[in-house]
Amino acid sequence: MNFDTIAAVATAFGEGGIGIIRVSGDKAIEIVERCYKGKTRLAKAESHTIHYGHIIDKDDRAIDEVLISVFLSPRSYTTEDVVEINSHGGIMPVKQVLDVILDAGARLAEPGEFTKRAFLNGRIDLSQAEATIDLIRSKTDLSMKAALSQLSGSLSRQITDIRQALLELMAHIEVSIDYPEHDIEEVTKDKILTITRQAISDVDKLLLTADQGKIIREGIAVAIIGRPNVGKSSLLNTLLKENRAIVTDIPGTTRDLLEEYVNIKGIPLKMIDTAGIRDTDNIIEQIGIEKSKDVIQQADLILMLLDVAEPLNNYDISLLQEIDDKNVIILLNKSDLVAKVYEDDISVYTGDKPIISISAKEEAGIDALYDEIETIFLSGRIRQSDATYVTNTRHISLLKNANKSLHDSINSVVEDMPMDMVTIDITNAWEVLGEIIGDTASEGLLDQLFSQFCLGK
Ligand code: GDP
Repeated sequence: MNFDTIAAVATAFGEGGIGIIRVSGDKAIEIVERCYKGKTRLAKAESHTIHYGHIIDKDDRAIDEVLISVFLSPRSYTTEDVVEINSHGGIMPVKQVLDVILDAGARLAEPGEFTKRAFLNGRIDLSQAEATIDLIRSKTDLSMKAALSQLSGSLSRQITDIRQALLELMAHIEVSIDYPEHDIEEVTKDKILTITRQAISDVDKLLLTADQGKIIREGIAVAIIGRPNVGKSSLLNTLLKENRAIVTDIPGTTRDLLEEYVNIKGIPLKMIDTAGIRDTDNIIEQIGIEKSKDVIQQADLILMLLDVAEPLNNYDISLLQEIDDKNVIILLNKSDLVAKVYEDDISVYTGDKPIISISAKEEAGIDALYDEIETIFLSGRIRQSDATYVTNTRHISLLKNANKSLHDSINSVVEDMPMDMVTIDITNAWEVLGEIIGDTASEGLLDQLFSQFCLGK
């Protein structure tokens, strides 16, 4: 494919040791050369070499002292000629170097455009491109491992193998339709059943990892609720102190909506309403309960705190009723104090929800809480190996669609439907699986996927 030459800042915006301006395309070297003064000529540079010099503007004024890496096509991120300029890592140096490069003829890249080119030029497939963004956004060691495995092509290989088997089957069916006199119909039917059943079982194996995979990638939204002074912010602080994973800004929101993640055994817990938990002063009970309802709505898991040293009150009971059908762990907090509430007394309200005694203040019982979370969400059987996890909602739904088509094809065979009908279903499964790796993906889908990337990637 033929593209224009693009440029963007590849490093995060702010102050740092270095900033990298990445340029990719046919004219990458020519354009950078126009604004570069150094001992060597970039046009003569070998691939994978680094060159010292200065970036200069039109009037020959030095903009910054830089190191320039040259990657010649096809051995580069995009498979095009790529030049990476390492400038000083401040907002001004990076911006000014980029401006000079744009003035010299490059176009500002769109978010994800470098990776999109790597995909369109055939270096990686779509699932690998998606893994790139997962890797950048990963919140725990486990989510990072899953992304890396997908990036290396583990999912792609499995999908490709299944599709190849289906493709061969489709060819075989074509032959039997074209030459019916050969009387291979019966053989064909057996073959269809064997191969589609195998494909279904392969897809099922991948889908088995999906629940865990999705949790590993997206995390669990966790709400800490309970009446004022029960210890919510103490618990949050205890969780954050040892396991704070990462704080992400949600674009377009104020600081209140910072997402805080806690890493529990590789599971990213996204703490909901962190600001609200910390700011519990003067909450009138009714407002408190109303506010909790919002938070409860968004949560995959609710940590409901009760004060073991105070009798249950109406506030506690209302909240318990509110979360009756939810995924809840009841925490009897302040276990360091003399108990006035016992598990047996509250079982009318808590049903069979797990109850754990903790002291947020003394950090006791917290490990038991972690174990319970692991049991609920990973059934305690997460494998730390490099097994392929299907983590992406888009992939999960395509795998389910493929399986449905495969089941339809089996039904058609069993019901002695014409071979053409069978082929339609198998072809459909083959196409749907192709969407995972981008073989059969539409322009709109690509635009939507790559627009989620950061600039310069
Ligand atoms: P929140 O209003 O639910 O956020 O409650 P806080 O976390 O602000 O705690 C209210 C009060 O209870 C504070 O004085 C805490 O020190 C105290 N507290 C919290 N957890 C414990 C605990 O496990 N044991 C004891 N003894 N006090 C606690």
